Amino acid sequence: MSGRRPPEGRLPDRQEAGAGDLTRLDRPVQFLKGVGPRRAEAFRKLALGTARDLLYHLPRRYDDASTLTPIGRLEVGADANAVGRVRSRGVIPTRGGLRIFQAVLQDDSGMITCSWPGQPWLERKIREGDELLVSGPVKFYHGRQMHPREFVITAREGKESGFDGGTIFTSYPASDDVPQWVLRRVYEENLDTLLAESDSEEYLDRSTLDGLGLPDLPEAFRQLHRPRTPTEAETGRRRLAFDEFFFLQLVQAMARLREAEAEPGIAFRRSNTLIRPLHEALPFRLTGAQARVLREIFADMTAPRRMNRFLQGDVGSGKTLVALFAMLLAVESGWQAALMAPTELLAEQHALKLRELVAELGLGVGLLTGSLGTKARNETLEGLREGTIPLVVGTHALIQESVRFHRLGLVVVDEQHRFGVRQRMALLDAPGGEGVSRPVAPDVLVMSATPIPRSLALTLYGDLELSILDELPPGRTPVTTLLRRPGQRDEVYDGVARELEAGRQGYVVYPLVGESEKMDLRAATEEHARLSTEVFPDRRVGLLHGQLSADEKESVMRAFRDGALDLLVATTVIEVGIDVPNATVMVIEHAERFGLSQLHQLRGRVGRGGGASWCVLVAEGGDLAMERLRVFASTTDGFEIARADLRIRGQGDLFGAQQSGRDPLLRYADLLRDEDLLLEARSLARRVVESDPELAAPAHARIRGVLHLRHAERLRMWKVG
Ligand code: ADP
Ligand code: MG
Repeated sequence: MSGRRPPEGRLPDRQEAGAGDLTRLDRPVQFLKGVGPRRAEAFRKLALGTARDLLYHLPRRYDDASTLTPIGRLEVGADANAVGRVRSRGVIPTRGGLRIFQAVLQDDSGMITCSWPGQPWLERKIREGDELLVSGPVKFYHGRQMHPREFVITAREGKESGFDGGTIFTSYPASDDVPQWVLRRVYEENLDTLLAESDSEEYLDRSTLDGLGLPDLPEAFRQLHRPRTPTEAETGRRRLAFDEFFFLQLVQAMARLREAEAEPGIAFRRSNTLIRPLHEALPFRLTGAQARVLREIFADMTAPRRMNRFLQGDVGSGKTLVALFAMLLAVESGWQAALMAPTELLAEQHALKLRELVAELGLGVGLLTGSLGTKARNETLEGLREGTIPLVVGTHALIQESVRFHRLGLVVVDEQHRFGVRQRMALLDAPGGEGVSRPVAPDVLVMSATPIPRSLALTLYGDLELSILDELPPGRTPVTTLLRRPGQRDEVYDGVARELEAGRQGYVVYPLVGESEKMDLRAATEEHARLSTEVFPDRRVGLLHGQLSADEKESVMRAFRDGALDLLVATTVIEVGIDVPNATVMVIEHAERFGLSQLHQLRGRVGRGGGASWCVLVAEGGDLAMERLRVFASTTDGFEIARADLRIRGQGDLFGAQQSGRDPLLRYADLLRDEDLLLEARSLARRVVESDPELAAPAHARIRGVLHLRHAERLRMWKVG
């Protein structure tokens, strides 16, 4: 393989890899039997550019005798698979001008007509005597008819059946230019060679594979392309899913190690001079989850390594208290701790809460926001510089301006929502400059109130440690969620009026209704006018939307918090956190347009005081849309909702921007089904990287080879390697 060196330049050579040629599978498909240069172009359009692509191009369907229905027993209304011989065929015109291709299929049990409306050209493809596998709904038009969504010619006239009961029949994603039968033939002619070559990519040894209960790669590909049973295909898929998780976790483990090594951390020492008194002063016991998470955090903080931890917990699960204990550990070890909130209002609220909690400890809590007066600001800055302020709460002002700390040991970031962890980390990692002054890198704890399934969190933020608060303190009154149709709005308004009558406050939330923010604004504005003049004329109704300046937003939210407004009409900007315990009712219009996680965030704005609270979803839509909302209304567990959201929306949707074109983050792995594999892959990846950071050991040469050859993009993205 002279002269063909990949750009990374760090590829192990053949000897080192001790393997067959890793790059052999990179040869273009045109060199495979039955492809050729002309067809290769069509293959490329299917993302099948190389021999390896063919191995990783998996059947989208497996059929075996157990999934077939005898033709005589196909029932109207069913969606079924059947196999039969074509007895007659032809194109029939309809009065509307549509031409329908029809073929009568027969097996031992009976006959059925199959119809393909608008596909007269099939006449040239499907011949009498051909054996077809068809799959689709059975309908009733002048008798039973099947309308195949898909079909495969399993044997030509006079040829023996391609479908004996024992074989599993595979159907690949195909295209007009690369039809199913071409793909099948190419696999038939090349698979044996490809399977043998796939051994060059095997990076795990036999005993590791046995421990994981997974097949080696040649066997896995055999199971996927030529399964003997449906279970085999699933086993093969799990092997590829493991590989996906493994290399993702490997890169993240490398990133984690790089961060840890770049900057030594602080080994905090627990003296209990603050932690114990706080414990004793609390009027309640920590939940089991809080105690567990604190142990995890303390273990990180007392180790000399820098902490990079992600704390997930539903609204109200007691994250702030956990954060406070972590901050006290820093302070009692002689360091300062900072808590960063996304808005000024939240920073103020945090500061108030913390002051209340630490009052008895004789500890002050500083506050630093953009709107502080010059004098107060200078005093705070000086306190931070001198170290006389051990605890500080603030907005981005904390890190964006030239704030100098005496000894900053811990930064807690209250993320509130969204998957913003990466950016925030980057912010903290930004080289000193005018930013935070720090003799050593502080430990970092990021808190998020948007529950996402554990497997998703581990996939997106595999370089962070993960702590989950999955238990709410006892004695909460859960928010009651109601589902209403637009026609029931008057009744909904009556409910709101009753709450306001009782001195409570409420929200009416609108989604992004149009394609543009302008339309969004108009809808909310019009509704505000209607609600304030027609529906609630003697109430004070405020309006909050995305086009207000930050100052204007703050002032509206402040008015609401201070009780100067009874009802707040808002677009989704309020999601970002406003804590008004007196608000007990929320109406969400067009609820069907929101994602479940977003609805959960919104709903978290009520039920923050002691009283019973309501969330009313006004929605219209089909069965599926309403079913989603019923799931949402039936639980207040954010993690359960997140899993439902993942199930309904699919993982591709959640990865969003991370998914670039044809290189999806995960192609074979399923975050809901494969969590066990993810955990195994994660622990193996971490063991490998920790024992051999450069992957220099001969035993890791294959891992390194595959990593640099196939995951170069990812290495760049995570800035490792
Ligand atoms: P989060 O930040 O996760 O939304 P908070 O930390 O604000 O939650 O806690 C919500 C409320 O619950 C606060 O009033 C807090 O004092 C209280 N709380 C926290 N932990 C417990 C507990 N273990 N038992 C009872 N109440 C608790
Ligand atoms: Mg530490």
